[in-house]
Amino acid sequence: MEKITMKTPLVEMDGDEMTRILWQMIKEELLLPFIELKTEYYDLGLENRNATDDRVTVESAEATKKYGVAVKCATITPNAARMSEYDLKEMWKSPNGTIRAILDGTVFRAPIVVKGIEPCVRNWKKPITIARHAYGDVYKNTEMKIPGKGRVELVYTADNGETKKELVHQFDGPGVVQGQHNLCGSIESFARSCFNYALDIKQDLWFATKDTISKQYDHTFKDIFQEIFDAEYKEKFDKAGITYFYTLIDDAVARVMKSEGGYIWACKNYDGDVMSDMISSAFGSLAMMTSVLVSPQGYYEYEAAHGTVQRHYYKHLAGEETSTNSVATIFAWTGALRKRGELDGLPELVGFADKLEKACIQTIEGGQMTKDLALITSQKDPIVLDSLGFIRAIRKTLETL
Ligand code: NAP
Ligand code: MG
Repeated sequence: MEKITMKTPLVEMDGDEMTRILWQMIKEELLLPFIELKTEYYDLGLENRNATDDRVTVESAEATKKYGVAVKCATITPNAARMSEYDLKEMWKSPNGTIRAILDGTVFRAPIVVKGIEPCVRNWKKPITIARHAYGDVYKNTEMKIPGKGRVELVYTADNGETKKELVHQFDGPGVVQGQHNLCGSIESFARSCFNYALDIKQDLWFATKDTISKQYDHTFKDIFQEIFDAEYKEKFDKAGITYFYTLIDDAVARVMKSEGGYIWACKNYDGDVMSDMISSAFGSLAMMTSVLVSPQGYYEYEAAHGTVQRHYYKHLAGEETSTNSVATIFAWTGALRKRGELDGLPELVGFADKLEKACIQTIEGGQMTKDLALITSQKDPIVLDSLGFIRAIRKTLETL
């Protein structure tokens, strides 16, 4: 069989620990035998980030701007324990944070649905994609404990010295206060990323805030979404046969529970943090979630939603068998290859991505899976495979498609 050729390279961001091991296996077993793989390789493994003073992370994000599509392996975000484990010069920042800051994107997460791993919510038939705004609000807050009686005010001082003042509260006793902010530019980017992604995957877009209570703050989110939609996207949505739907956050939660899925749910930062954990655990497992960062300029970075699976890596190092689920990492590759194929007009590459995803799903539905899935499947007597065994089983299925 002739290998599929590529035009433009993918930006390949290698990572750490067990996912780095899976990365190699996936390339050897599932990609290189079928594709003349073209990538520009960046080693984001912690050792190389440390050796390059983290320049490699910035360079990989810049390369994503140049080529448009990247695929990223999970990486360690250093903490105190990692400082000594890897003898680090500095506690380097989260690579995902660095990349997100450069690409200014929104992260879209969707469950990979397979028969036998049923969502806890019975009526959910199709995936629900969460789009989480990744800037500001409570994540960039300023807080204060109020010791006793007194007055708290919100003061804005313009560069020309003019001021605006609002009373927060006249305290009669101790309490707490919090200041939050967001930027219209960031909200606009968030809105455009969501509208573009909805058009991309041809699904309805839902957005919700608490604008009835928060008449300035949340209402600004609502207004910006609506203005951008009316001015730039309404016609495109009509043409694609999809809708943009705004409602209150509590109404959205009630509707989500009663829906059958199959849409994108755009969430403010905090709502997205909370709701994405609810959605992923209700659908089954973090190892069965896709995750893609989409920039307002239309750059894409695909990754798995889970981490480097450190516990399994230590077992692997000790020579013990591991049964780590590679599906989310495989779907990061297929997402990136499909997007590359679409942008470069390579239907064979798009077709290969579709087939590889189908092979993953058929393998699991056929009863062969990793331990994490065997624990939650409704299938009787699933066959539990080790990390490499599972990838080889997917290859066998792939070769029959
Ligand atoms: P984790 O790597 O997601 O793993 C947590 C636990 O979830 C694992 O111990 C395992 O449970 C289960 N799990 C996750 N992925 C799995 C898979 N593919 N197959 C089977 N089981 C899976 O999170 P963590 O242990 O909190 O973090 C480890 C490192 O990852 C940290 O250094 C963190 O900084 C980094 N991290 C990176 C990213 C990213 O790059 N996107 C995201 C999150 C965390 P059992 O042990 O019970 O089998
Ligand atoms: Mg969270």
